[in-house]
Amino acid sequence: MQIREIHEKYKARELTISDVLEQVFDTIKSKENEINAYISLYEDEARERAVELEKNLSDDISPLYGIPVAVKDNISTKDMDTTCGSRILLGYRPPYNATVVDRILNQGAIIIGKTNMDEFAMGSSGEHSYFGPTRNPHNTEYVPGGSSSGSSAAVAAGEAVAALGSDTGGSIRQPASFCGVVGLKPTYGRVSRYGLVAFGSSLDQIGPITNSVYDSAILFTAIAGFDPMDSTSVDMPLPDINEIFENYDKNRFTIGIPDEYFVEGVNEDVKSGVLEVAKRFEEAGFKLKRISLKHTEYAISVYYIIATSEASSNLARYDGVRYGFRAKGYETLDEMYKKTRTEGFGEEVKRRILLGTFALSAGYYDAYYLNAQRARRLIKEDFDTAFKDVDLILTPVSPTPPFKIGEKIEDPVSLYLSDIFTVTASLAGLPAISIPCCRSKNGLPIGFQLIGRPFDEKTIFQAGRFYEEFLKDEG
Ligand code: GLN
Repeated sequence: MQIREIHEKYKARELTISDVLEQVFDTIKSKENEINAYISLYEDEARERAVELEKNLSDDISPLYGIPVAVKDNISTKDMDTTCGSRILLGYRPPYNATVVDRILNQGAIIIGKTNMDEFAMGSSGEHSYFGPTRNPHNTEYVPGGSSSGSSAAVAAGEAVAALGSDTGGSIRQPASFCGVVGLKPTYGRVSRYGLVAFGSSLDQIGPITNSVYDSAILFTAIAGFDPMDSTSVDMPLPDINEIFENYDKNRFTIGIPDEYFVEGVNEDVKSGVLEVAKRFEEAGFKLKRISLKHTEYAISVYYIIATSEASSNLARYDGVRYGFRAKGYETLDEMYKKTRTEGFGEEVKRRILLGTFALSAGYYDAYYLNAQRARRLIKEDFDTAFKDVDLILTPVSPTPPFKIGEKIEDPVSLYLSDIFTVTASLAGLPAISIPCCRSKNGLPIGFQLIGRPFDEKTIFQAGRFYEEFLKDEG
């Protein structure tokens, strides 16, 4: 189900908002036991809102009006739980809405539930949630990717029409790729982070997960734009949906193909699938250009120093005093902190806090954090240089297709390494989209990534839609 189609049907009075909502709830009822995409659902509230919205239906409703949307559980919602997939935030309800939540509500969206995720958005498989793993709707023995596991699985399964996720180092793009849906990480500063529970503040962005590129642009334009409540929000002109897709089929962009992303070790199905996409663009008149992003090899180390350092500081606030869970059976205040954090955080979160605290500690700061910041600049400069000659960069999203549940859980480093193609754009603050292109030998979805210039989501959407309309295989 696509936002755009539903919107047209609402306007033509061919569907009611309750029809669509009930269809989504029916799907949830039949699939959710297996998929586990949601942490909490708000059926009664959604049904009431649908009735209200139906009453005010008119011909000039905004595109999100009456659309059932799922929201990742690290995005603050005033009247709904916001757990971040963690025991430590059990029962926490924020006193305010994230800016993105207010924006989609103002457009008439219906928030149906909060989606499952790797705890505090740390992970790439959807297995690190206090609420149990999410499963890939295409084959439930496989992971859906992460950390926006529930948002991606929900959209892929028809358990939501669209969803919001967050992406620090790939958490929208990689699960979108694994679930066969479209996921966009907007430019850093484009979408307000106000109300997004912080993980790596210099990297975090909220973005849309949808069934098409067009829908991605609808949700993106609804949530993007300056917000005085976020000091990193940038006041730049934002194209509207008509402007984005005006004559999109007339443009033939130059697409860079980075050598470093098609190396040995990348799965053959992924490599051939993504190169096939490049070929089709070329046949349609786009120009391809080989480029080099030569500092790519440092990206994983840099990302895992910066993200864990920022996380160790951001997660210091969960101490059992202000939010959610507090352990029982302590005598002193120190013991209460210790017990609460020991029992409240999962293994992966603790690992990150330890890594980040170490990297920031006196004596190691220069060697790790400072050097990582320097290398981050080099990675960014690689992109700056490349974008002098190309409009977009085409790469795989993940070096492998979806893997089996449990396959990598004992080996955190191999999971970290699999983030190689998504963390680079994150470190450089660039917008990037994941679009489904093919299947692995086991029949699981594989996506490709288009990375754009800062604040040029428009070119990404235009080329992405071109692919979707004219180049992709039917079915
Ligand atoms: N997989 C990466 C990590 O574990 C990215 C997560 C994210 O983007 N939130 O940190």
